[in-house]
Amino acid sequence: MAVIKTKGIVIKEVPYNDTDKILTLITEDLGKISVSAKNARRSGSRASYGTQVLTYGEYVLFKGNSGFYLNSCDVLVNYYNLAQDLVCFTHAAHILEMAEDTAQDPALSSRILILLLYALQALSKGRNPLLISSAFALKLMQISGYPPHVCSCAVCDTYDIENIYFSFKSCGFICENCSKRDTDAIMLDVGAAKGILYVLCAEKGGIFNFELSDKLLSVFSTIAFRYISQQHDKSYRKLEILNNLNIN
Ligand SMILES: [Zn+2]
Repeated sequence: MAVIKTKGIVIKEVPYNDTDKILTLITEDLGKISVSAKNARRSGSRASYGTQVLTYGEYVLFKGNSGFYLNSCDVLVNYYNLAQDLVCFTHAAHILEMAEDTAQDPALSSRILILLLYALQALSKGRNPLLISSAFALKLMQISGYPPHVCSCAVCDTYDIENIYFSFKSCGFICENCSKRDTDAIMLDVGAAKGILYVLCAEKGGIFNFELSDKLLSVFSTIAFRYISQQHDKSYRKLEILNNLNIN
């Protein structure tokens, strides 16, 4: 069996047999992969090291005919502290789910991994979880090749936009005139539009270095989450627990 070394983060762990786990990793060069971790459910065993969700490490894997098997792991950093706060942990789970749905392509996985690490780092530092997860969603769409159209009206192409609307039908900014034929479009305050532009233009950790008022963040996050749901044709439900508990 070939031995492979790769850096990656565990985004899912599923029990298998009595003592094993199947891990899902987003890696820097292999894309999203499943890894069998033998005896990883034996607590305190060496085999369990580095097999928890939110572990980022350097993994040594065997590649067999039916997939990858974990040999060993060198933990580089973990984000287990996020589990101490329900709001943070729920947003982290939402971020992992969005990343999992996007990281199929090995050509994208390196950029998604970096974005993921910066987002988890920002959450760990106590940044607003809603801002981090919604900015993550928007940047993720850009990385995967589906950024919203923001440089002109997505319908008539005019650059002369006084009042900006966001159209889900046209996937981007539209002008007031075109919004009259798009009743689903959302009017954007300049601050929310600037937030969207900022995230699309920023790189690496800078993506999360901005602030929005609660009112602007509400619009920004509504757009970001609905946009990724539309592109992935999927309802993301992890944050509903916070809404049901009336916290966010
Ligand atoms: Zn227009």
